Amino acid sequence: MDTKIIRIEGQGETFSMEEDRALREAGEVLRRGGLVAFPTETVYGLGGNALNPESSRKIYAAKGRPSDNPLIVHIARMEDLARVAGQIPEAAMELARAFWPGPLTMILPKTQEVPYETTGGLDTVAVRMPSHPVARRLISYGGGYVAAPSANLSGRPSPTSARYVKEDMGGRIDVIIDGGDGEIGLESTIVDLTVSPPQVLRPGYVTREMLAGVLGQVSMDQTILRADSGQAPRAPGMKYRHYAPKGELTIVSGQAGRVTAYINAIAAEDEARGHRVGVIATEELLPEYRADVVCSLGSRRDEEEIARRLYGILRRFDDEKVTRIYSECFDDTGLGQAIMNRLLKAAGHRLVVLEDNPK
Ligand code: AMP
Ligand code: MG
Repeated sequence: MDTKIIRIEGQGETFSMEEDRALREAGEVLRRGGLVAFPTETVYGLGGNALNPESSRKIYAAKGRPSDNPLIVHIARMEDLARVAGQIPEAAMELARAFWPGPLTMILPKTQEVPYETTGGLDTVAVRMPSHPVARRLISYGGGYVAAPSANLSGRPSPTSARYVKEDMGGRIDVIIDGGDGEIGLESTIVDLTVSPPQVLRPGYVTREMLAGVLGQVSMDQTILRADSGQAPRAPGMKYRHYAPKGELTIVSGQAGRVTAYINAIAAEDEARGHRVGVIATEELLPEYRADVVCSLGSRRDEEEIARRLYGILRRFDDEKVTRIYSECFDDTGLGQAIMNRLLKAAGHRLVVLEDNPK
């Protein structure tokens, strides 16, 4: 299949007439059951008509994604929510007022209009209203309901720029809309409103603390940061080893000086055995490392920058063909919780904890 690439420079009301026409045509592709990848404020989405079971089947096929892993339905207007969500509790309205449009996905009971192909067989539906102007206009032109997982091949890091979407989806889908790099870089926060108290199933830019600020009590799926909880995660997709780089990733936690010494020693050993070694570093410690490829996530003090850069660096390591990767560890509070959740999943939960004061 020939994949058409559309470049959109404009934002909001500043779309040029040609850009608006191109978005209208992409919307027509969605209405006819085709697939369109598009930018959002989190990562690029791979969109199809959420109310058309055939479109959802095509999304799974294009990604190579297991079909029990439900898709998020994207809408552009509040009044469209009731067609897909059967019951909308007051808590959902409060969260929508606080965080929509934006990087928050809510789980609600589904209506009959949403095919099981879209929800992976579940009676609940995940809904989000993105803030990215290109996404919003495309959703409106496409009929109002766009099912979209991240636009990567299953098992690859989510794409934060159109270049990565082309790598994974070129030749597999009808259209790719290139709208520049994602502002946030990590997937949306998912909160389940069908349980009481509401529960975070996937951490993201909207933190548990921010949700609790609106709702009072909000719990956290215990499988999010722990490999040993012995439970299945409640968001079906969270059980898969997403975001997997090709090299074996290990996270190293401890005092800065001990972390750099440990990583340098093990990198030297690995390299002696023929490995090509990559290090995921913060700006502060960057000069300390000796390894084949050392990449900076930015300053440890700027978690937003770290979130934005993470997936691009994981992809760069794939391109560089590194076979072993070591990463610094981050605090799991605030946005750090989402960063650590993605890192731990990419690492298959391989974490080395160095003692502060070894005997
Ligand atoms: P992605 O589209 O790649 O951001 O992944 C979507 C995530 O949302 C996956 O982890 C899904 O398991 C999760 N999800 C979607 N729908 C539901 C639902 N109805 N209940 C629980 N989790 C869901
Ligand atoms: Mg994904």
